[in-house]
Amino acid sequence: MGAFSSIILLVYVAATVLSISEGSERIHSLIRQPVAGTVSAESDPAGFSCLSWRFGVETKNIRDLPTVPKVCQHYVADYMLSDQFLQDSKVVTEEAFKYAKTVKLAGDGKDIWILDVDDSLITHVDFYAQNGFGTEIFDVTALINYLAQGISPALPESLKLYRRLLRLGFKIVLLTGRMEPSRNFTESNLKNVGYHSWEKLILRETGEWNDTTQRAHKSAERRKLVESGYRIIGNMGDQWCDLLGDYPGHRTFKLPNPVFYTE
Ligand SMILES: [Mg+2]
Repeated sequence: MGAFSSIILLVYVAATVLSISEGSERIHSLIRQPVAGTVSAESDPAGFSCLSWRFGVETKNIRDLPTVPKVCQHYVADYMLSDQFLQDSKVVTEEAFKYAKTVKLAGDGKDIWILDVDDSLITHVDFYAQNGFGTEIFDVTALINYLAQGISPALPESLKLYRRLLRLGFKIVLLTGRMEPSRNFTESNLKNVGYHSWEKLILRETGEWNDTTQRAHKSAERRKLVESGYRIIGNMGDQWCDLLGDYPGHRTFKLPNPVFYTE
């Protein structure tokens, strides 16, 4: 996918960590059952801080980087496999829930919460591990084949928020950059891991995968929603292209993702 090929896709399979298969097991274990862990702010002898780099990427101060800095490969892999990633996700979803609770819904079924799918509701960290965590440019065909298996696990804090939003009475709109031919396996993957219902699942009809079209697609679809009477109360995604543009929603929530950047 162009979005992936245009962004940072570089992490690391450390010789000190695990084999690929063992890494996959560890990832799934983490997704299902968070474990205690810490992430070291690895730095090179010159003092380059990977923690500071990640902060810069997440806050959109650092842009247009072709790859994760080589010195940060271990750091990013460690972060993605650590409890810190889950804790960072939890901060986002807890804030979203706190805000959601303050909203008085109109009761007409038009108050919606938009959720991105990839690396927001479900994670492909298993694919990243099996493909060098992005140390090379993604093989688009391999990625699509992986997605088509529909085996991506839920991000636990996102699933928790999804359930809470439903209980509060929000209508859920899933807005993804995936193409229409992906609909069936996207739905089955989501349902298999606990996302069982939604008001709409909006995919792309056609187009190229790149940052510009991703953002334009999401803006255009949000505009259609608003023009048809929906009120976008909240919006959560792992990329800035999910949250920028027209009609982003009353509040937006950015999930962590140090692996790549799409504005
Ligand atoms: Mg995403």
